[in-house]
Amino acid sequence: MTSPPQIEAVIDLEAFAANIAALAACAPTSALMTVLKANAYGHGMIPMARAARAAGSPWLGVATVDEALELRAAGDTGALLCWLASPGASFGAAVEAGVELTASSAEQLREIADASRGASDRPRVQLKVDTGLSRNGARGPQWTELVAAAAAEQAAGHVEITGTWSHFACADEPNHPANDAQQDVFRDAVDELSAAGVHPGLRHLANSAATLTRPSSHLDLVRVGIAAYGIRPDPTLTYETVLTPVMTLRARIAQVKRVPAGAGVSYGHQWTAGRATTLALVPTGYGDGIAIAASNRAELQVRGERVPLVGRVCMDQLVVDLGDGTATRGDVATLFGPGHDGEPTAQDWATASGTIAYEVVTRVGGRTVRTYKGLA
Ligand SMILES: *Cc1c(COP(=O)(O)O)cnc(C)c1O
Repeated sequence: MTSPPQIEAVIDLEAFAANIAALAACAPTSALMTVLKANAYGHGMIPMARAARAAGSPWLGVATVDEALELRAAGDTGALLCWLASPGASFGAAVEAGVELTASSAEQLREIADASRGASDRPRVQLKVDTGLSRNGARGPQWTELVAAAAAEQAAGHVEITGTWSHFACADEPNHPANDAQQDVFRDAVDELSAAGVHPGLRHLANSAATLTRPSSHLDLVRVGIAAYGIRPDPTLTYETVLTPVMTLRARIAQVKRVPAGAGVSYGHQWTAGRATTLALVPTGYGDGIAIAASNRAELQVRGERVPLVGRVCMDQLVVDLGDGTATRGDVATLFGPGHDGEPTAQDWATASGTIAYEVVTRVGGRTVRTYKGLA
């Protein structure tokens, strides 16, 4: 028997499936896309793709063409959209693999059409309008140019326009005026496209936060990322939907030792024992995605008790102060989990290290072994 991993992310596929079902119920008249970019926010792209399909997600979404091709190579055959490409991306291969591409400018639409000239199918392309995030997508006169290019390329039989979409800037602040403003811009952009004789196809705008709180934005499809992984898009966002965090990050204690009062702990002695105490060494660090900013701030759970992370997080290790508590080598130290048994959550780590929970789970990697439980 192999020994359990030193550092392990346990991924609860039942919770993932339940989250997807709950999110689908939030937007009952829209199709659902589960977003799997960046290794499924650290959860492992291929197993999460399989689980999302099994949970009834009709669409999957990723950022890059390479991520989409990796899903196809792993056997995924369902509806799949990607949306972020630098010039020279493998558009031809994506079209052959039945991946839907996004065009954010007329130039990109023509590049997609040119790259897939020899392909057996016409490229299926969705058009991205920048409604106010000022990131990807065509805005103002660029949109007018993209609309004209879409009309021309579709009439010439070079592409098939299958969708029109955009992305919110402030959906985790439901009362932010940018939300309504972006919906208005989106409506106008769709009207402009229709007026040019191009059917907009699937219209979509909502991310997790908008799926949970803004039914007027659900349109034909909702794109859910963080909420599918059971994490609140923002800790202050309120909604009725029950979501369960999918990832539990835990490690097995490598050493336990008693130190005297005054002992400095870890590089720079950023923490010093105020009295004699027991320390436990947890074999994970920034090499696995644990933020140095969590040094002296985060807590872990050992034997049912919350214990503070003391001193600086190192590349491979971190230290917790057990006080007069005890632990043995090999005991489990839980960094975060759903929080149902008193363990910290990814949001707690985000708060402790001055970031967002998205970053906490997405950074998990390095030597971390992902173990999948529940369902196949
Ligand atoms: C990441 C992403 C999403 C998902 O966002 P969440 O806030 O995680 O739900 C949706 N759409 C696009 C374009 C994205 O890049």
